[in-house]
Amino acid sequence: MKYNWSIIGHEKQLKQIELDIESGNLAHAYLLAGPNSVGKHTVSRKIAGILQCENNFCHKCPTCIQVQQGSHIDTVELKDNKESIKIDDVRKLVERTNMTGQSKYKIFLVQSVERMGIEAANSFLKVLEEPPLGTIFILTTNNIRGLLPTLISRVRVVKFSNVSARYLEEKLKELYPDREADTIHQVSLLSLGKTGKAIHLMENPDSLADYRKIYSDVQNFLRSKNRVDRFAYVEDIAAEKKRIDIFFNILTHVLRSKVLEGDAETSKHIKTLSKIEEAGMFLKKNVNTRLVLENLMLSL
Ligand SMILES: [Zn+2]
Repeated sequence: MKYNWSIIGHEKQLKQIELDIESGNLAHAYLLAGPNSVGKHTVSRKIAGILQCENNFCHKCPTCIQVQQGSHIDTVELKDNKESIKIDDVRKLVERTNMTGQSKYKIFLVQSVERMGIEAANSFLKVLEEPPLGTIFILTTNNIRGLLPTLISRVRVVKFSNVSARYLEEKLKELYPDREADTIHQVSLLSLGKTGKAIHLMENPDSLADYRKIYSDVQNFLRSKNRVDRFAYVEDIAAEKKRIDIFFNILTHVLRSKVLEGDAETSKHIKTLSKIEEAGMFLKKNVNTRLVLENLMLSL
């Protein structure tokens, strides 16, 4: 590849973006779509770095460093703060598109663009339709189905996906030649194909320990048919949203692997998988956490 992206995977997508840049076929708006923690936001910052740096994306100049830190004057970030993007936020953004910049481009990175309500999205559509010259939008989403078709039609979509555990393991070995093979193997399994997650686990021993613990909990959980044990576990994790997410992710991963292996209880696992998905949606809608988890346990 032409630029030093320092990213695991997604080679096809990055090459496509390089080609757009090199051939002068840059879109004025990109939408990076795909699951959580595969590095979409990281890629969006790298694209901004490539476009803003005047020294071939050197990673060393003040521009490169500021873009990387999210503090570059003409690279504006609307980061995911877990709240919806309001019409006022969009108005401010539009005002900034009209200000004179100091750089070659004025770039707006909008993380989790699905957070825009209908009013905000409609106002955003106008600037997407006719952006001032030199303006580039790089949007990310993990829920492309939640976006207005009119928005999708105005952007160039680049789809990201999880990578395979085997691929991840190979890449981690290259990146961390000094780490034990065992740790790398575990991380490549536990990160469920998410490259961002894999790096996080490699660099945060505490998180890795949490993941290992939950993985073994999931194994015990599936072995035990004892409802009392299961309810006790639910009570234990209900207080921590983060642990529930990890638990669901790992449980889903383990059951999917069993289905792929042609496990004797495949049809039961498929039912459970759809129950987990349903429970995940209820939790997003803020239905009582314990109730949702207990219901799930009863249906297992
Ligand atoms: Zn640079």
